[in-house]
Amino acid sequence: MADASRRDFLKTLGTACVAIALAPLAEKLALADEVASDKQIPADYDWSKHKWGMAIDVEKCIGCGHCVVACKEENGVPKEPFYFRTWVERYQQYGEETVVDSPNGGYEGFSLENQREEKPDKSFFVPKLCNACEHSPCVQVCPVGATFETPDGAVLVDAEYCIGCRYCIQACPYGTRFLNPITGVADKCTLCYHRIHDGRQPACVENCPTQARLFGDLKDKQGPLNQFLREHKIHVLKPHLNTYPKVFYHGIDKEVR
Ligand code: SF4
Ligand code: SF4
Repeated sequence: MADASRRDFLKTLGTACVAIALAPLAEKLALADEVASDKQIPADYDWSKHKWGMAIDVEKCIGCGHCVVACKEENGVPKEPFYFRTWVERYQQYGEETVVDSPNGGYEGFSLENQREEKPDKSFFVPKLCNACEHSPCVQVCPVGATFETPDGAVLVDAEYCIGCRYCIQACPYGTRFLNPITGVADKCTLCYHRIHDGRQPACVENCPTQARLFGDLKDKQGPLNQFLREHKIHVLKPHLNTYPKVFYHGIDKEVR
């Protein structure tokens, strides 16, 4: 999608979705239908029948950073380091010590040069992104309702309403938000919300060479995402915070936060 049309789409969608976020529960689905009438969402799209989420198979991630590059290109994320909608961390364990690094968010992959002389006991890569929390602290603290959850499970920011106060950035326990230096408003992963309603995958998922990322519909009980969740041991990040992430990890232990 061209930048201009994507902006128009998000503007239309965002305005309507703020109304959804602020509306009483009974009105939410009716308002969602209004949004769905936007020509870029199929007219027969039923918001109540979907709940989007992602699984990440850490055992498959090779730390190539293709997802980081694809995300920045797809979403116009500033190229400078420190601005990421998704990034990759490397965990290296030396006995009791765990060393975590993420040079430039993993954008160029990971070189072996930074490693110590001794070999780590264990080394693995962990892609990170907005967890699309069911109970999202960012939504709770936004003073103007600019951060909101859609009925199908994404957490978005409406740039028209955001006043750049950074409350959500401080509130996110996963460090997934940043203040966009170009727009001056809060920015974060949207699960590529502009792509998923016509069956396309988020850009990070589409560009992962090892299928370490799996996007899907949690309400599709027989779908690939639920099948993956059933067949693998799954963790979410910081479960003690009761944010109820919709990003699920396979292959991590409690040392990953
Ligand atoms: S991960 Fe952070 S930005 Fe994403 S929904 Fe949760 S609290 Fe909000
Ligand atoms: S593209 Fe896939 S394999 Fe490469 S770093 Fe991202 S998740 Fe890992």
